Amino acid sequence: MGPLQWTVPDRGALFVVSGASGTGKSTLLKHVFAKLPGLEFSVSATTRAPRPGEQDGREYHFVKREAFLKLRAEGSLLENAEVYGNFYGTPRAPVVEALEAGRSIVLDIDTQGAAQVKVSMPEAVRIFILPPSLDVIRERLVARAADAPEVIARRVADAKVQLAGCGSYDYLVVNDDLPTSILALQSIFMAELLRRERRQSWVRSFGGEAVG
Ligand code: ADP
Ligand code: 5GP
Repeated sequence: MGPLQWTVPDRGALFVVSGASGTGKSTLLKHVFAKLPGLEFSVSATTRAPRPGEQDGREYHFVKREAFLKLRAEGSLLENAEVYGNFYGTPRAPVVEALEAGRSIVLDIDTQGAAQVKVSMPEAVRIFILPPSLDVIRERLVARAADAPEVIARRVADAKVQLAGCGSYDYLVVNDDLPTSILALQSIFMAELLRRERRQSWVRSFGGEAVG
């Protein structure tokens, strides 16, 4: 077994990560991805315009509203939601294929989408990233300098709605001290990837009986 090859289980894990925008989700996930090979982001479809530096097919599949509605109507989306007036959705087929091939997938989606995933794929592990406080979200969005002031105001207002949904998640991580939060998130991923249910091949290889 090569270094960290154990991060590839028999069947991949589906991780859902939510949190109000500006909490530090992208920052945390970037660090955890660098530590744990075998994790992949699902690339969502969205009707929002690309931001500078974003590439079609990398951050998102940028699609027209009609194309999005067609994907949704034909059942090709695992979940979908309207956020800040734009549609976002997770293409179903790539997620199902990846899990079957033992690759683990991370969905960075809002609380509306996470609730749908819980229904359609109950085995999903749902993690909510909390800010130390609501004020910190505003400070981080201003410091990130990616959005106009009115967009920041809207994101802060929406943050309250998102945060109110944290009670239905499996794990909560408060992103206060960055290194501690990276360790916390990484620990959740590692523990979930080592669950016995995902390791029946190890059980069998040592002559054990794979239960469940
Ligand atoms: P999100 O993906 O949740 O919208 P980002 O990862 O873009 O948030 O983080 C928003 C801003 O906060 C960025 O400028 C990032 O560098 C900063 N940030 C992230 N985590 C922390 C932390 N633990 N302490 C201080 N600043 C942070
Ligand atoms: P942004 O426009 O900043 O990239 O994303 C805005 C919000 O949309 C974030 O809260 C993000 O989690 C959410 N989002 C991105 N992709 C999806 C998706 O496929 N489905 C759902 N439900 N939310 C998404």
